[in-house]
Amino acid sequence: MLKSKVAVVTGSTSGIGLGIARALAAAGADLMINGFGEAAAIDKLRGEIAAAHGVRVAFSAADLSKPADATGLIEHAMREFGRVDVLVNNAGIQHVAPVHEFPLERWDAVIAINLTAVFLTTRAALPQMLARDWGRIINIASVHGLVASVDKSAYVASKHGVVGFTKGVALETATTGITCNAICPGWVLTPLVQKQIDALAARDKLDPEEARAKLLGEKQPSLEFTTPEELGALAAFLCSDAAAQLSGVALPVDGGWLAR
Ligand code: NAD
Repeated sequence: MLKSKVAVVTGSTSGIGLGIARALAAAGADLMINGFGEAAAIDKLRGEIAAAHGVRVAFSAADLSKPADATGLIEHAMREFGRVDVLVNNAGIQHVAPVHEFPLERWDAVIAINLTAVFLTTRAALPQMLARDWGRIINIASVHGLVASVDKSAYVASKHGVVGFTKGVALETATTGITCNAICPGWVLTPLVQKQIDALAARDKLDPEEARAKLLGEKQPSLEFTTPEELGALAAFLCSDAAAQLSGVALPVDGGWLAR
């Protein structure tokens, strides 16, 4: 389906981004992966994905908290592959604290990585998508792009911003072959959420299993985590011809979180 197409997936050295990168490679796309991690582990990952799916996999260490790096990531992909057909804005961070104790430095970091970088990569990738009249922009927002939870003001603000930005880009590209959508996962068991489980276990003196069950029970009626593989399959669907008229939406994948 994505043979001879190129996908850039930000924050794809772990978690959801890695699940999406694997799914797009399985659909035939050459990949630019990005994120933090040990050089040897990232090299191994590149080789493993390339061999499993017969695609080219390049890596950029762009730090998306820096505007020049966000733009540079797309320029790097253009130098490497000559095109970017699919852009998945996935990199994101969390910081948990009440508003009146929220450090400005953490607020700025969350907004820079979760929201501003999404604008910058999209702005850099769009002209050549418009020139070919085809593209897929997939923004990994969150249920927190649609509802709030306590102590996550910066994250909630950034993800609501991502959902709004997604709609704006969808309207601006509506008469083209480009679509722009947001995926809004509920709880996914990744390093980002493991930190919150560890904090809950410490606060309420729970063992890891009890803490996981409590976290899910508070929000996610299915009592199951959404998986990176499920999100990868949805991203691949959004890249298909069947999804050509699907644009500007924010799709929850949340085990019923938002149905409450
Ligand atoms: P994760 O911590 O496992 O992965 C985050 C990825 O982003 C990693 O590859 C990391 O290296 C990269 N990254 C972090 N800061 C970066 C930076 N400054 N520059 C470049 N890369 C950077 O997290 P995850 O849970 O897989 O989250 C991925 C996305 O999904 C985030 O946008 C997150 O907000 C969103 N999300 C996660 C959940 C969840 O339950 N895990 C739910 C909803 C939405």
